Amino acid sequence: MIVAKFGGTSVGDAPAILRLTTIIAERIARRPLVVVSALSGVTDGLLDLAGRAARGDQPGGAERLAWLEARHRDVALGLPGTAEAMGTIAGELDALRQSLAGQPRPVLTPGELDELLARGERWSSRLVTAALSGAGIPAILADAGGFLRTDARFGKARPDRLALAERAPAEIGPALDRGQVVVTQGFIGATADGATTTLGRGGSDYSAALLGAALGAECVEIWTDVSGLMTADPRIVPAARTLAEASYEEAAELATFGAKVLHPATQAPLVERGIPIRILNSREPAHPGTLIGPEARLERLGDSPIRSISYKKGITALSIRAPRMLGAFGFLRALFEVFERHEVVVDVVATSEVSVSLTIEDPSRLMDVRRDLEAVGELRIDEERAIIAVVGIGLRDTPGVAARVFRATEPANVEIISQGASAINITFVTREAEGPDVVRRLHREFFGT
Ligand code: ADP
Ligand code: ASP
Ligand code: MG
Repeated sequence: MIVAKFGGTSVGDAPAILRLTTIIAERIARRPLVVVSALSGVTDGLLDLAGRAARGDQPGGAERLAWLEARHRDVALGLPGTAEAMGTIAGELDALRQSLAGQPRPVLTPGELDELLARGERWSSRLVTAALSGAGIPAILADAGGFLRTDARFGKARPDRLALAERAPAEIGPALDRGQVVVTQGFIGATADGATTTLGRGGSDYSAALLGAALGAECVEIWTDVSGLMTADPRIVPAARTLAEASYEEAAELATFGAKVLHPATQAPLVERGIPIRILNSREPAHPGTLIGPEARLERLGDSPIRSISYKKGITALSIRAPRMLGAFGFLRALFEVFERHEVVVDVVATSEVSVSLTIEDPSRLMDVRRDLEAVGELRIDEERAIIAVVGIGLRDTPGVAARVFRATEPANVEIISQGASAINITFVTREAEGPDVVRRLHREFFGT
């Protein structure tokens, strides 16, 4: 079997969903499991709805609900066979309207927020299942809450892979064996007592990979709006080129440091069984896209030893200087305990004998982290930073790359430099405003355009 995951823009309007049905029709013999994201903009729209409700902005909330309904109705109108699915969606929107209107300032609990966000994927999966049936393809909907068991960390739930390995084949296998296309939602799961959870933004790629591993897929296809993993984000570097191949390790590094085309955890469940990922463009299905797997040949893109450059903005950099009386060992331990205690993920770290510089992406716990770090040492916080990562297995045996990287970044100031333990990336921090230019200069240096 194969898993075919379609991102928000690949189910974003009726023509996109019609393209999906054609793509799936061509893959029937490979027994596809279709994993869908919410229609593009809908997860943001639902978040906005929750925010308006909490602010007591009732007219704004009503407007947002009307927008959500129109968004889905427009799509349904262009797809044969989706009237009943749209009726169900409209009914759920009505119920939501009533429940929100009944309370003056409903502040949703994290669990209620996940239940709300999950609607996006639940609605799109209904439309896609109906559209497949409408196109004459036998399809059934299987709710991810039925098999993707997670813990109860709402908003960033962690999957229970053992439970999934047991349930997914039982819940999905028989339908695939009968020749039906199974449609399910990305991004969402449920706790042992059935409460809906979400895996974090962009999590549908991760769902697809988890399911691919649990079902022993021959391949996990990620259908999106670009023709694969590219030498840089084409929104920053219009001349960026598609890579034919990348290794799991390279893809993970690039995704962690900003290549949004793939969720950073996507390759993790697939590594053990060596299941490949193929990133494909739903607007250009004949393009071979990028194959990500255990091994990747070194392509010659000009004379470049690197594969791609990633960029992630909205980063906060922290520097902590140790007080003299504390030995380096105790200092590092006390320092990292702070991040552990507050469950804050650290991305880039550079250390010297007496100080540590590091970056965090999620500033929501910054006040707590700050208070505790000030007890450990002298703290400096720099906001509006960006991480840039230059990644490629070719870095392992090409001397002098760092010098080329830092020559190309000039005159921008480079703040925290780190080379990953795997030696396939050089990562550093700049001011956010300088980031895109630095990426373009690096692209010119390494790929000539
Ligand atoms: P989807 O909704 O299909 O999951 P995303 O918006 O999450 O799609 O990811 C696709 C986007 O990722 C592209 O439109 C592109 O702008 C961005 N992107 C960032 N870095 C890269 C890269 N190195 N290669 C390809 N796309 C990238
Ligand atoms: N719809 C979710 C989001 O926008 C998950 C996804 O698209 O992968 O983050
Ligand atoms: Mg995505």
